[in-house]
Amino acid sequence: MTTKIFDLTGKVAIVTGGNGGIGLGMARGLAHAGAAIAIVGRNADKSNAAAAELKQSGARAIAISTDVTDKAAVDAMIARTQNEFGRVDILVNNAGINIRKPPHVLALEEWDSVIKTNLTSAFLCSQAAYPAMKQAGGGKIINIGSMMSIFGASFAPAYAASKGGIVQFTRSCAVAWAPDNIQCNAILPGWIDTELTQNARREIDGLHDKVLARTPAARWGASDDFAGIAVFLSSAASDFVTGTAIPVDGGFSIQG
Ligand code: NDP
Repeated sequence: MTTKIFDLTGKVAIVTGGNGGIGLGMARGLAHAGAAIAIVGRNADKSNAAAAELKQSGARAIAISTDVTDKAAVDAMIARTQNEFGRVDILVNNAGINIRKPPHVLALEEWDSVIKTNLTSAFLCSQAAYPAMKQAGGGKIINIGSMMSIFGASFAPAYAASKGGIVQFTRSCAVAWAPDNIQCNAILPGWIDTELTQNARREIDGLHDKVLARTPAARWGASDDFAGIAVFLSSAASDFVTGTAIPVDGGFSIQG
């Protein structure tokens, strides 16, 4: 019973930004649970390497070069996944960037770029995946928020706006698509050691130690910390869970 409710055999998952960091951690978890995986990103070499790694561990996997801010490219990516694997059951909207500047310095183009990559992309991918999920009788959408879905930061006005928006977008899709048996949930990662935060640690003085001091688990998160939550939110185990935003943060957000 326990194994079966987490079993993803025969399911097909798309992971945007799945070629590294948190996305690859989730893709590994989903592949391990039996899903076929489409790795989506702009960097073809990184995406091919991630798909090759998953295939080596016995999974079915493809890499699809896509800029998730481009509607035509997103539509083509969903069509390609359906052609390759015959269906789309799980969509993980994980692609994301940050441009670290205070609000009085951030340029409009920078604001637009962050909002499009982190928020508009989730809308484009979810809307494009919806018909396939509806046709299959259900689906799972997982959107990646952040601690900035809850908190603000002087250096992250567009990023925090996009990640706050992700939570409200998740709730709206959860309500709209519940009758189609599509569950939509968000994951809010704490501070995780990836390329994204390696840059942040270079740019923000004292960040590494501040995060450690505030995190009850007393460590930075790792990409593989996201395998379990991805499997849970993609599987029958979460069929009555929708519209939530689950922190995966070692306790960062509950520290008083
Ligand atoms: P990485 O920088 O390691 O990964 C970002 C991924 O997004 C890459 O795979 C990148 O692939 C992809 N990506 C970026 N822009 C686009 C685009 N336009 N089209 C397609 N793919 C794109 O970062 P993380 O793994 O840390 O971040 C993953 C998610 O987790 C993000 O949404 C981030 O905001 C969120 N997050 C991360 C936290 C952390 O501490 N690391 C904390 C909270 C949230 P490519 O370059 O090939 O396009």
